[in-house]
Amino acid sequence: MAVKRDDDFFWEGVDEGKLLVQSCSDCGKLRHPPRPMCPHCQSVASESVQLSGKGTVYSWLISKHPTQPDAEPRTVVLLDTDEGTRLVGNMLAGETVTVGDCVQFAVGEFHGMRLPMFTTKVA
Ligand SMILES: [Zn+2]
Repeated sequence: MAVKRDDDFFWEGVDEGKLLVQSCSDCGKLRHPPRPMCPHCQSVASESVQLSGKGTVYSWLISKHPTQPDAEPRTVVLLDTDEGTRLVGNMLAGETVTVGDCVQFAVGEFHGMRLPMFTTKVA
């Protein structure tokens, strides 16, 4: 039997086009990135919940990596989701943002991998 990692549900959600985060089964607080124990009540029981995918840009930067396969500059955002947890993600290729912009979860592709990304095209 394969060992499940704490973040497997997150990547399975991305494959299905969903933004899932970990929620404590005892106190209900959201936590991201996923981890084994709740920092609020020390419970080790958790479940995943689907977020709306909407959030607000808290900060951003342009990442410029000098080598392949990540040589194209991209916008990385730190955002607060509408549900109240903070995430880091990339904007879809070519999209830029500023602090306070509303963004929406989107699945992007990078060298054949499905990755969690964000877009300013909010539904
Ligand atoms: Zn808890």
